[in-house]
Amino acid sequence: MGRTNTDNLVQQLKSVGLRVTPQRLAIFSALVSTDSHPTAQALFEQLHPQLPSLSQATVYNTLQILAERGLILEIGTAGDGAVHYDGDPTPHVNLICTNCHGVQDLFEIPLGSVAKDKIGQAGFKIHAMHIAFYGQCQDCQDAAASSRLSAGKGVGVLNEPYLSAE
Ligand SMILES: [Zn+2]
Repeated sequence: MGRTNTDNLVQQLKSVGLRVTPQRLAIFSALVSTDSHPTAQALFEQLHPQLPSLSQATVYNTLQILAERGLILEIGTAGDGAVHYDGDPTPHVNLICTNCHGVQDLFEIPLGSVAKDKIGQAGFKIHAMHIAFYGQCQDCQDAAASSRLSAGKGVGVLNEPYLSAE
C-alpha cells in the first residue's frame, strides 16, 4: 500500500512537524515494515548492526515521539513486561497472547465508526485508538492441547522440558 516507501515515510514525519534524521527514519521504517509488533529492545537489536551509533535511548525516545504524533501505536505490554509498538495507527483490534507474547492485528472490526459516532459525540478528539484483547493464540492453545494429549499417553514428562525451554 506504499506506506513503507521512504518518500512517503519522510512526508509523514514532516506532516507532524518532525525533523527527518537518518536514525528516526530507520526506526520508523523498520516498525512500519513489520507486523511483528516489536519492543524498543527488539528494534534496537535489529537496527544496531546497520547503525552502530544508534543508542537504546534514541530508539525508545523516537518511538515515544512517533506515538505521541499519531504515526504509530504504543500497545502496551504483551504479558512480558515490555511495551510493544504497532506501525499501523489505523484503528484496529490487537489480539495479544500472554503465553507467547505474540500480537495479531484484526482490522475487520469497524472501530473507526464506533469512535466517530459515540466518542465524537462526547466532544473528545481522538488522536489514536486501538483495542487489545488478552488471551491465548491458536498456536498456544494447540500446543497446550497436544501436550495434554501426550500426557494422557504417558509421555508428558518428555514434553515438559521443551515447553519450559520456550
Ligand atoms: Zn501464543
